[in-house]
Parts: sequence; C-alpha cells; structure tokens
Amino acid sequence: KLHNQVQELKGNIRVFARVRPALPHESDSPEALADIAYGDERKAEETGQSEIIITSKSESATGREREQVNGFIFDKVFQPRAGQKEVFEEISMLAQSVLDGYNVCIFAYGQTGSGKSWTMEGGDDEVTAGMIPRAIDMIFTASNHLRDRGWKYHMEGQFLEVYNEVINDLLGSSQFDTKKHEIKTDKDGKMSVTDAVNIPLSNPRQVSALLDRARSRRAVAATLMNERSSRSHSVFTLKVRGVNPLTDEKCEAMLNLVDLAGSERLASSGAGENKDRLKETININKSLSALADVIGALGQGQAGGHVPYRNSTLTRLLQTSLSGSSKTLMLCNLSPLAAHLGETLCSLRFATKVN
Ligand code: ADP
Repeated sequence: KLHNQVQELKGNIRVFARVRPALPHESDSPEALADIAYGDERKAEETGQSEIIITSKSESATGREREQVNGFIFDKVFQPRAGQKEVFEEISMLAQSVLDGYNVCIFAYGQTGSGKSWTMEGGDDEVTAGMIPRAIDMIFTASNHLRDRGWKYHMEGQFLEVYNEVINDLLGSSQFDTKKHEIKTDKDGKMSVTDAVNIPLSNPRQVSALLDRARSRRAVAATLMNERSSRSHSVFTLKVRGVNPLTDEKCEAMLNLVDLAGSERLASSGAGENKDRLKETININKSLSALADVIGALGQGQAGGHVPYRNSTLTRLLQTSLSGSSKTLMLCNLSPLAAHLGETLCSLRFATKVN
C-alpha cells in the first residue's frame, strides 16, 4: 500500500540502472574499466534518486584531450556488487501489484553483453535466479495468501519473440514456428496474439520448464541465424485472472518481462554492409525509439494525449499493458568496461530521456 502511494507520487514510470561486474575473463585493471562513479548512497535513500557519474575523455578542438564529466539521474542505481536478490527487492512490489489488477511492464535495455538476460532470467540456482523466476515465485506465494481470503486465481504464461517486426512463439509445439501471428483487438479493446500458446500455470516449477522450453527454441534459432537472440526482443507474459466469490470482486492483469534487443549501434561499413544485418538494425532502432516515444508520451501524462503505439510491433503488442492503470519499469543495463564506454553513454542518454 505504502509502495503504491510512493508510485502515485512518482508517476507510474520508473527507470533504474544496473552496472554489471567485470567478468572473470575480462581484465578489471583500472585502464580496462570505464570511469564510473556513484552519487552518495545515503542521500539517494532519502531523495529516492541516485546518480551515475561518468568521466570520459574527448578530443577538444585544439586536439588536446579534455575530460568530460556527465551525471545521469535514475530512480535507483545498482552497482556491480548488487546481487539478483537486491535488485529484485526493489521491483518485487511492482511485480506484485499485478495481483491488485495493475498491468506491469518491466524492460531490460542495453547493449549486447550488458547483463539483460542475466537480470531477467539469470542462473539456475536460488542465488543467481533472475527477475522472471523471482517475480513468478513471489506472485504465487502472494496469491496463496489471498486464496485464504476467498480469491481464486487462474494464471497463464506466454513467451513471444519479436524479430524483424515479426512475432514468433517461443512456446510453439514444433521446433520452427511457421504460423503467422497477428495482434488482434477485441471489442473491449483487449489485445491478443493469434495462435499464440498460453500455458496454464499452477505452480512456479512449471515456469522453469516453460523458460527452458523457450530457451531451447531460441538456441535452435541462434545457430541458424547468428546471435539472433540479441537481435530480437523477448516478451514473457504472465496473465493473471482472479475472482473472489465471497466479495464478488474480480481482477485481471498482465505482468510483462521484456528482454530487449541489443541497443548497440552497428558500425556501418557503407557499401559492404550485409543487407539482412542492416534490416535487423533498422528494425531494432525503429522499435526501441518507438518504445521510448510511447514511454515518453505516457510519462507526460496528458490525459487523452496521443500515445504512438502503432509505430512498432513491440509497442502494439504491449499496448494494453502500457496504457490505463499500468506500471512500467525500464532497467538500463550497463557494461563496466572502458571499451564499451561509447555505448554506455548512449544507453544512459536513452534511459534518462524516457525518465
Ligand atoms: P545481454 O543479455 O545484455 O546480452 P548477458 O545477460 O548475456 O547480456 O550478460 C553477459 C555476460 O555477463 C554473461 O556471461 C552473464 O552471465 C554475465 N553477467 C551479466 N550480469 C552479471 C552480474 N550482475 N553478475 C555476474 N555476471 C553477470
């Protein structure tokens, strides 16, 4: 409840940043790491805003190197030492509000290798499990408590991929999804995807089987098409329907956890550019900027203002969840490496633009 009041004060869009640690095979010598500093943590607790400070070198007009210091403000910043549990603690109330009837979208944004899949799916054990299994676990636990008060729930999982603006079903029964999926709107304005598999879920363990199934399908696609998973958006959706015969209350909402395509700009090699790759890049840029436009328009909060959902498949797919009584979290994943500093700055600018 308190959390919801805080949400209302802040609006329904929040933006977090997470900097991953250097990996064992990456050097963590000072030269290899970007110069990233963090604002005062105690002050951040008080104000509910934390800062990332990036110091970079750029060449001045006279050819001399100049230091540039840029600060970026987020609702929350996770430093490399923050584990999955700590990150989840900050989003658990948000995820849980799906049981109060709010549609929730959580996005992981960032360049390939910045920790998006790690954040969303994570590892196989309790310590390393990511946001999807934790959110599901918590929603099941919370719904069991509500069952004692008369609520009955039906939950379903759906896992889609948007690649080159086309929807593929990661839970389809055959290895290759040959079906053409369309986004349909029913008379109540509710969106659904034609022929998408929805798997009924009665316990959290079924979710890990579902994630495994999606992962193996994506692995097949990845070997066919180089690094496809980083060039597509994956959208996991938990649909929750609740009724309480004792009080005659109803609730229906969706939790969407979205691992976005890598945001890196491709070095354009001009004439030699691979045509398929160029098409992918154009589609990724188009959909990420469409998403930023939608979140930006929602953040402006003008009632009845125009929100440009129709500019990409991803925003059309998520239209119901992003509009009305919805809550959105953009998690900006960042690499700590100096070699990635250019992309890190781009991600920071993108993320603070939507904030
Ligand atoms: P992306 O999905 O953005 O391409 P990944 O999630 O695959 O990036 O992360 C890249 C690599 O870094 C993976 O090997 C992943 O296990 C590791 N990694 C990312 N974030 C963390 C973290 N917070 N702690 C430990 N390892 C991480």
